[in-house]
Amino acid sequence: MYVFEWAPGMDVESLCEKLASCVSTVRWWSGEVVYVGCECPPDRKTLVASILAGALLRDWLYRQLVVRVQQSEPAWTGDEIEYTVLIQLHDLRVAKARFAGFDLDTWETKVASDLCAWMEHENWLSLPAFARFRMRPLVTALSAEVERRMRQLRLEDEYEESLRMLRYMLHEQPIVQRELHVFCAPERIWMTDAEGELVRDEEVLAAALADESDVDSEDLAMSILITRSPCRIVLHDLYPEAPWPSFAETIRRVFRERVTPCLGCIACRLHEAQRLRGDDGALDLTWSDGTAEGQGLDI
Ligand SMILES: [Zn+2]
Repeated sequence: MYVFEWAPGMDVESLCEKLASCVSTVRWWSGEVVYVGCECPPDRKTLVASILAGALLRDWLYRQLVVRVQQSEPAWTGDEIEYTVLIQLHDLRVAKARFAGFDLDTWETKVASDLCAWMEHENWLSLPAFARFRMRPLVTALSAEVERRMRQLRLEDEYEESLRMLRYMLHEQPIVQRELHVFCAPERIWMTDAEGELVRDEEVLAAALADESDVDSEDLAMSILITRSPCRIVLHDLYPEAPWPSFAETIRRVFRERVTPCLGCIACRLHEAQRLRGDDGALDLTWSDGTAEGQGLDI
């Protein structure tokens, strides 16, 4: 009889059911340590090894990831973590994502092969200890990826929450019959009115500068936009490759139908020409009434 030590708290009954479908005698003992015993004729070793590998690459691996994410993302509830890890694991398996050189199905085949080789010579094995040793590179790489994805999901949740708050604040403001132009460039953000005059807002700037905390230029620009609540915003997105979440995206999501994209004005064409020349210098807004950089709202 082979005896396998299994991890406490794991679903030993379903493992035994699977084993019982291919071998005649399966028993299990549960206490501080869980043991599974099974009689296994030689022609069934490969099948038993693949069932055990499946339990390790699915149930055991899943439990490892849940424990790790619980430590790295304590704000999530247990149910949220279990559900999300399950989805991520399924996605990564289907996408054939590779970890420490192999995708999850290949890892399962390799682990099954190792177990089968071991069963040729021994009749006792601690499956958790075997997995911790044999699957360590997989667990390290896979949990880094799952934790990265969970972190991204949390950031997306926080972003959605901030958008809801901004839309609520905007809803409280009376709409002004005025058009504003917002320019989002890699090096800075600025605004003009419909005539090309740079916009500045003394009250918001003073409040921001009086605040000891870090003044974020995007927060400042958003405060001005919400306070002014223009009926129309022409968005000149000079930085479409900005990292998520870009300010242009936030403007589109908050102001929705009030936002019109610029389809190619002089300023955008000049900026593009400068970018192609590799010139990082400030944009020469010749049409903005000669306002020099450093004046107006240059945030
Ligand atoms: Zn433009």
